[in-house]
Amino acid sequence: MFIMWITYIFAISHKDKERMKDSTLLQIAKDFGSPVYVYDAEKIEFQYKRLTKAFSKVKNLKLNYAVKALSNISVLRLFNKLGSGIDTVSIQELRLGLKAGFKPEDIIFTPNGVSLEEIEEAAKLGVQINIDNLSILEQFGTKHPKVPVCIRINPHVMAGGNTNISVGHIDSKFGISIHQIPLLLRIVENTNMNINGIHMHTGSDILDIDVFLYASEILFDTAKNFKTLQFIDFGSGFKVPYKKGDIETNIEELGEKLSQRFNEFCKEYGKDLTLAFEPGKFLVSEAGVFLAKVNVVKQTTSTVFAQVDSGFNHLIRPMLYGSQHDILNISNPKGRERFYSVVGYICETDTFANNRRISEINENDILCFKNAGAYCYSMASNYNSRYRPAEVLLYKGKAHLIRKRETFDDILNNQVEIVL
Ligand SMILES: *Cc1c(COP(=O)(O)O)cnc(C)c1O
Repeated sequence: MFIMWITYIFAISHKDKERMKDSTLLQIAKDFGSPVYVYDAEKIEFQYKRLTKAFSKVKNLKLNYAVKALSNISVLRLFNKLGSGIDTVSIQELRLGLKAGFKPEDIIFTPNGVSLEEIEEAAKLGVQINIDNLSILEQFGTKHPKVPVCIRINPHVMAGGNTNISVGHIDSKFGISIHQIPLLLRIVENTNMNINGIHMHTGSDILDIDVFLYASEILFDTAKNFKTLQFIDFGSGFKVPYKKGDIETNIEELGEKLSQRFNEFCKEYGKDLTLAFEPGKFLVSEAGVFLAKVNVVKQTTSTVFAQVDSGFNHLIRPMLYGSQHDILNISNPKGRERFYSVVGYICETDTFANNRRISEINENDILCFKNAGAYCYSMASNYNSRYRPAEVLLYKGKAHLIRKRETFDDILNNQVEIVL
């Protein structure tokens, strides 16, 4: 079975390369222009099914794709087709989900620090709401005691690599601290509100499964305080590899261990609860690439810059988080490798990579940035009054334009030109 699975993963990842071939990507850059984001629908589907399979021993599993990772409506439609739910963090994402065809019961609203009015608006639309602070919980519970509410707990566990279980995150703005459970219970009792789910999302990468399981125990302990639960939501944090040597969350092992523990807990609790997750990165990161054209190769006294027709206005993760996205020269994949600093064209330091080994770059070559599915387009801006790029979805062997490149009208849209 294990061997079969490994062979399957190998065969599929081989097919990834077949679908996202250099020649296909170059043709897309030619047809749709650069810069452009390209997503592989089959890779998204593969990741979705892989996660589902890892938790197949759980009777009721619910995956809610985190919309903020990549929020194109056609991508949302793909998730809807796969049977996924969605996790939304703003009323706008929620409305986008409804427009993409999700039913309210397939949507969870998990914002942080939004107004009572926004939560009430979401509740009115019939979606599952999730509250992460005591003040709003009390106000909402007082006004709407009948509306089922999920609460976000902060277990104060940080998955900090290796086996360190750090009780950090005390300063985190997310969730209700486990140390405030007594006050939380009093609010629930006083308002007689209906708590139907509990949730955590620590935001850290799950590098060590034992740390994640440790945090889950805290969630189980908290769950015992509520008699009306329908689900427990374990958030996300699944790590995917960005560069060679990166650790990836072992989903299969996590699935095996957490499923077993979850099933035991359901027995103790006396009810088959639903196990929920809300992954973003795991589902879409590796499915996306970003293609940009080299405008200038500039040799200075200390380095060789390859300057592309993009910048942190289109892909901010390297500048914002120091993320390393692999960069390939798909116009000259067999060329001699040399060292380059890949930078953008905006008037600000916008470094994508320093001193990277890339096959020889010439002007007009197309560079391919990997892992561009999650938190790339969704964080793009118009800085320097540049257009946001086009988005293309590869679906069943065909390249579909799913977002047009912006035009000058988009730059002016909503600007009010007063006569001075
Ligand atoms: C962003 C977010 C996620 C998704 O996190 P990933 O690391 O992309 O999997 C899940 N849940 C909540 C509440 C989030 O804010």
